[in-house]
Amino acid sequence: MAWVDGKSYNPPFVRILVLSDIHSNLEALDSCLAAAPAHDLVVNLGDTVGYGGNPNEVIAKAQALGRVFVRGNHDKAVSGLMNLEEFNPVAGLATLWTRDQLTPENLQWLRALPQGPIHVDELPGLQFVHGSSLDEDEYMVSARDAIAPLITNPVPITFFGHTHLQGGFVLSGEISEAYRPGYRTVGQPESSDWPLRKDRRYLINPGSVGQPRDGDWRAAFAMFDSDTWIVSFYRVPYNLRVAQEKILAANLPQRLATRLATGR
Ligand code: ZN
Repeated sequence: MAWVDGKSYNPPFVRILVLSDIHSNLEALDSCLAAAPAHDLVVNLGDTVGYGGNPNEVIAKAQALGRVFVRGNHDKAVSGLMNLEEFNPVAGLATLWTRDQLTPENLQWLRALPQGPIHVDELPGLQFVHGSSLDEDEYMVSARDAIAPLITNPVPITFFGHTHLQGGFVLSGEISEAYRPGYRTVGQPESSDWPLRKDRRYLINPGSVGQPRDGDWRAAFAMFDSDTWIVSFYRVPYNLRVAQEKILAANLPQRLATRLATGR
């Protein structure tokens, strides 16, 4: 609630739940949704499908949650918008399997997802991308990768995904620095706050819901408060065994199941 001219009003989107790289992992998505605090808007940064065993179920849930979507490279590959030459064999097999499983309606939905950067009228200081604002398929892994997007972005805060690495980058002056949230455990639900400064520019990755690759197996997401400019990163355990069994039962590459346990 905020007050303007002595009257109260509710700004439309204050608490934003940011999800990315769900990758057909229904168990991880359910855990994130159960752990997420109350929110006014859900943003999905892409790669809703690919790798995991529940593509149709995850799409149904994502559609029910979200208003703001960005397409990811897996969404494009599965729906035939991108060829598989750039994918490794494991990702390629998962793409073909996913394409085979999806209903025609869900394939069409993936094909129609918008390319980032996405802007939302009610959130003027933010934009949403899958890879980077300069190239939707680019990986921003190092502080060096982040410099050009940080300098050229038209808004102070860009949320991105694609790398599956939770954290972000901040530009102060001409220096780009990486930020990683700190956690104390490897098996409990945890959150870590990153208060942003209004005189800096940021790239923020909520981490991957369904295929974490930063050495932490827990499902990742982030909340952003557009009033206080605090980003809260979360890691939550989920039913890993069930997610793995679905991958194996589908005859997907075994590696996709085993790597869930290590978050690599
Ligand atoms: Zn991804």
